[in-house]
Amino acid sequence: MTPNGNEQVPSTVRSVCVFCGSSAGRRDAFQRAARELGSLLATQGIELIYGGGNCGLMGMLADEVLENGGRVTGVIPKGLMTKELGHSQLTRLHVVAGMHERKALMSRLADAFVALPGGLGTLEELFETITWGQLGLQQKPIGLVNVEGFFNPVLELISHAVREGFAQPELRQRLVSSASPKEVLQMIAAPAATAPPWRLPTPGISLA
Ligand code: AMP
Repeated sequence: MTPNGNEQVPSTVRSVCVFCGSSAGRRDAFQRAARELGSLLATQGIELIYGGGNCGLMGMLADEVLENGGRVTGVIPKGLMTKELGHSQLTRLHVVAGMHERKALMSRLADAFVALPGGLGTLEELFETITWGQLGLQQKPIGLVNVEGFFNPVLELISHAVREGFAQPELRQRLVSSASPKEVLQMIAAPAATAPPWRLPTPGISLA
């Protein structure tokens, strides 16, 4: 899809779960991208669902949405309220028992997923979301904000797994990415990101 600067994400995407670093990262571009994504979410009326912290890119993203009049729902485990500085100004903050409950609730609340640069927590959340798609546990689009090529090694590793016969090519095609947060928001609403096939649901598996 060729994004048009004025194009809005269709109303089917009303909330986006964003995974990103609890640290700020070394490059200013990471922080600029977090802020740009936050302001786009607010101005397009898309609710941010995220981990609820007030540190690193997570805090910058949430602050930017709030400063632009948007809605933010945080989901944070009780045990991380101090470590990740549970954000006190959010529209809603769910304090949950643990990490699994956090991920399951964020996934339920969101219409789509976006990853900004981050550390191992971000990568873990991203990969779990991709594999839930692979198992048919969720059919929601996933986009990467590939700031200055941050996710290139991840994309290459996934392509490598596809080439070596360990993952389906459709999986790689469904994962959309762009350096521009605006383009990522447009792409997650495009048919290629939402159309089947993910793998068929495995009987007996549910998100609960
Ligand atoms: P990081 O990218 O490591 O800065 O972490 C970003 C977010 O991912 C933080 O809110 C972490 O609490 C969260 N996180 C860290 N480890 C995990 C995990 N195993 N599962 C889910 N989230 C995690």
